Amino acid sequence: MIVDLHMMVICEECRTKFEIKDLQKRWVNNGIQEIYYSCKYCGKNYIVALTNKKIRDLQKKIKTAKDKGDIKKLNKLLERHKEEMDKLNKK
Ligand SMILES: [Zn+2]
Repeated sequence: MIVDLHMMVICEECRTKFEIKDLQKRWVNNGIQEIYYSCKYCGKNYIVALTNKKIRDLQKKIKTAKDKGDIKKLNKLLERHKEEMDKLNKK
């Protein structure tokens, strides 16, 4: 992730400084979801990342590995998650 919750950002549109309270999701097309946050003053949307089914499945597995404290598996999953995110978000 490029942004964190509670991070302070300055809106490019209205120059207001605000804190990212939550990230929102919306469907872009079949299988692709957009994660974004919006400026609470002027409503401008900022896209954080795109996710597909593969990525969302990995995120579920990451959560499970975290809950179980399976560090070895967690690291492997995080690596795969990053690869898929990079591929989809063309970083
Ligand atoms: Zn704004």
